[in-house]
Amino acid sequence: MLGLFGSAENTAFGEKHLPPRRTLPNVAPVSVRFTILASGSSGNCAYLEAGETRLLIDAGLSGRQTRQRLATLGRAPEGLHGILLTHEHSDHISGLVALAAKLQIPVYCNRLTAEAVTEITEAKFDFRLFTTGGGFEVNEVGVETFAVPHDAMDPVGFLLRTSAGNLGFLTDLGHATRLTVERVRPANVLVLETNHDVKLLQDDLRRPWSLKQRILGRHGHLSNEAGAAVAEQIVSENLHHLFLGHLSRDCNRPELAHRAVSSVLQKTGAAHVGITVASQDVPCPTIELGAQIPAIEPAPAAN
Ligand SMILES: [Zn+2]
Ligand SMILES: [Zn+2]
Repeated sequence: MLGLFGSAENTAFGEKHLPPRRTLPNVAPVSVRFTILASGSSGNCAYLEAGETRLLIDAGLSGRQTRQRLATLGRAPEGLHGILLTHEHSDHISGLVALAAKLQIPVYCNRLTAEAVTEITEAKFDFRLFTTGGGFEVNEVGVETFAVPHDAMDPVGFLLRTSAGNLGFLTDLGHATRLTVERVRPANVLVLETNHDVKLLQDDLRRPWSLKQRILGRHGHLSNEAGAAVAEQIVSENLHHLFLGHLSRDCNRPELAHRAVSSVLQKTGAAHVGITVASQDVPCPTIELGAQIPAIEPAPAAN
């Protein structure tokens, strides 16, 4: 029987189940640094370093690209303690075989995602399974998971709790449910999807009607306006920085995503929230949680 949240147990599927998350002890703040290595419809991968703990969130860059971008931080895939997966779409797992299977790095995901990843890659992984909605720990990082409405097997968002602050991931969702908004509300730094500009998507001649319907649907992706509405709902003095992510290369522009969100925040008087539009092509500047938060950066030039 596969008892989730039991003690670590090996199963026929070869994975271990994760014990539930404890309340983390009050420890002295450690250095917590976060870098989005890539974000966009062609590949998503982010790096979190909390004290001695080194994690990737999704592995949607090639192994080579991941290695190159980690090297700009002075890090290497061999030093990773785990890879957290939101879901099995290729823009989130295309580097997983090269990184996790070859280097034997643990992969944290739910059961349906693990099954889908195994079927897609035909590779063997050291899976650590969680139940969607539950929490667990990877060394000093507390991980909370929650369901998001997206057309994958069992897609999730994350809230990562560290002693220096909380980091939220909310991408790949067709609409923001009340649950998703509540689960990322404690985030001090949030990666928020602003996938497309609705008009650019509707006017796009290369995408078939069925694909547009999928993207715009209740289980597709958040538009700039939908992302801005989420930002408006969760903004508080605790929210320090927004990374706008998962932009479509063809149906969005960084300045449109930035404008949609910054205009909403300005209306609410939230001038303290920094905004960075994440790029597909280059890593974002590293942000240090708990440190002096930088002011709003100018949106990068369109590419
Ligand atoms: Zn997806
Ligand atoms: Zn995606």
